[in-house]
Amino acid sequence: MNYIVLDLEWNQAVSRRRLITNPIVLNGEIVQIGAVKINDTLAEIDRFNELIKPKFYTTMHPTVRDLTGIKNADIQKGRSFPEVINAFRQWCGKDFAFITWSMTDLSVMKDNLTIYEMAADWLPPCYDAQKLFDRQFIDDDHQHSLGYALYLFKEKPLECHDALNDAVNTVTVLRHMMGDEKLSPDYLDLGADEPMYYAHLKIKPELVEEDPDLSTFRCFDCDEDVICRNWKKQTSYQLVTIGRCGSGHEFFVRLRFKKIHDGLYEVYRVVYDLDDELEEIYEELE
Ligand SMILES: [Zn+2]
Repeated sequence: MNYIVLDLEWNQAVSRRRLITNPIVLNGEIVQIGAVKINDTLAEIDRFNELIKPKFYTTMHPTVRDLTGIKNADIQKGRSFPEVINAFRQWCGKDFAFITWSMTDLSVMKDNLTIYEMAADWLPPCYDAQKLFDRQFIDDDHQHSLGYALYLFKEKPLECHDALNDAVNTVTVLRHMMGDEKLSPDYLDLGADEPMYYAHLKIKPELVEEDPDLSTFRCFDCDEDVICRNWKKQTSYQLVTIGRCGSGHEFFVRLRFKKIHDGLYEVYRVVYDLDDELEEIYEELE
């Protein structure tokens, strides 16, 4: 399966009076589709980049124009939304999933298909790279911009708010997040689960098993110590286990290691309420 890393730019109504509200409130009309097609090893296969001539919001909103650099003259040269969508679908191929930075792009895409009375049943599963990033690299629950993610990985971004550049930027962040691992729906799904707790620790790798900071934490239900043993390797830089407290509360615990330099790792510990699906993931690991 291929992954289409997708980014859209959309225009807005220039005034409240011009806002389309029927049959849906059209908050944004797509004026650019940018996408990078990658395989499960994150190798680039192809790029897609097209401007779209809008039908509803035909004058660029000044704020959008300044943000994206897309001018009225540019969109005049674009093809219509139905033409571009058909070309885009052709380009996507058969077996694919979307990856976007936040889920806003997907809802804008759905709105645009609706307003143009076009089918939406071809839309594939869509995974949220922002959520993956926030939940694996950040120990708070805020949403972080693509620019911030690039900054964290010490990458110089291509100019943001261009659809193709942002798709390429998202691929860059994904490569940092995945390391040598392969993309898979399982991985992308799991990363999007709602964790209940984050910790950000610095450790020496040889101490993983016996480091009390890693192997215990306070139970969220009863405040007793949760003991984490029998770690299993989920990927080459992720350990998971099921932690239990003395009162029998159970949690799915994941440690994610990022090497800072030899002998020192940053560890992100994410704790989930144990459910059948997570238990099965743990049981199936060696
Ligand atoms: Zn407990």
